[in-house]
Amino acid sequence: IVLSGMLFSLLVGGACWLLLTIHQHPSKEIMQGIKRGQFHVEYQPLVTAQDGKPYGVEALLRWTHPSEGMIPPDAFISYAEAQNLIIPLTRHLFKLVARDAHEMCHQLPRGTRMGLNLSPLHLASDSFRRDVQDWIADMPPNHFNYVFEITERTMVKEKNAGEIFAWLHDNDIKIAIDDFGTGHSALIYLEKYPFDYLKIDRGFVQSIGTETVTSPVLDAVLLLARKLNLKTVAEGVETGDQAAWLVNRGVTHLQGYLFSRPLKPENLVNYYQQQLAA
Ligand code: C2E
Ligand code: CA
Ligand code: CA
Ligand code: CA
Repeated sequence: IVLSGMLFSLLVGGACWLLLTIHQHPSKEIMQGIKRGQFHVEYQPLVTAQDGKPYGVEALLRWTHPSEGMIPPDAFISYAEAQNLIIPLTRHLFKLVARDAHEMCHQLPRGTRMGLNLSPLHLASDSFRRDVQDWIADMPPNHFNYVFEITERTMVKEKNAGEIFAWLHDNDIKIAIDDFGTGHSALIYLEKYPFDYLKIDRGFVQSIGTETVTSPVLDAVLLLARKLNLKTVAEGVETGDQAAWLVNRGVTHLQGYLFSRPLKPENLVNYYQQQLAA
């Protein structure tokens, strides 16, 4: 019984399954969580590889459930996607980011990168363009450089991906291909679509120095990115050795606990002040 239970949870997807067993009505709880202000956003700094100075942030959604405490985004995002809640949830994210941005913008340099994770389901929806335009209208004008981080699932699912990407570029939004190196990483997408950033998945970064097999693959990806004129962000950088290896190979930006964990707005502003003064 224990074994079949474990198998079941593996099949259904660990985190999602957990959420479903703890809660009778998780959909209702997400909508309630939005209404009751249980979500907030944390911002993880990215640094420029050459000088280690802050370059921008990635916005990461957080849910503090009244009885369960912190529920990780990997658990509720996939659930929200499955239950058609990802659009209201992302609209809520837009609101929270705009509110934080107005508070922080006086203390963050103009041109600070503001990266958001977007679901392919939202990109393909009829409301996407209006939602994005509403968000930009809500943001402090001319202060942040926007980047939407998307995964390969978007290209697999959406035939009109090229058209959507062109529209984003027309609206001054840059595109990052996220989690590169996981899933069915099709190199062909890199040439087919006009990405601005390639984010190298944490799994790759963690294998640096430990797995001899991975480094040549990563080498090849970095070479290709350079040829295609893509900026590269290595995610999940935790050690100085990893950072040195990546900088040596020409990675342009780094992100990870070595530099900073995701931070609440007031702490992000402090981080920026310290790092820019250093
Ligand atoms: P992601 O887009 O790959 O985000 C990076 C994740 O790596 C974050 O986890 C971040 O906290 C974590 N991380 C950063 N540096 C390190 C490090 O040095 N070591 C380790 N071990 N981890 C590090 P988080 O915040 O739990 O988010 C997980 C995923 O949930 C994200 O992966 C993203 O796919 C999704 N997500 C988060 N916020 C949103 C959102 O607002 N919308 C959507 N659609 N997805 C979101
Ligand atoms: Ca991301
Ligand atoms: Ca990622
Ligand atoms: Ca990820």
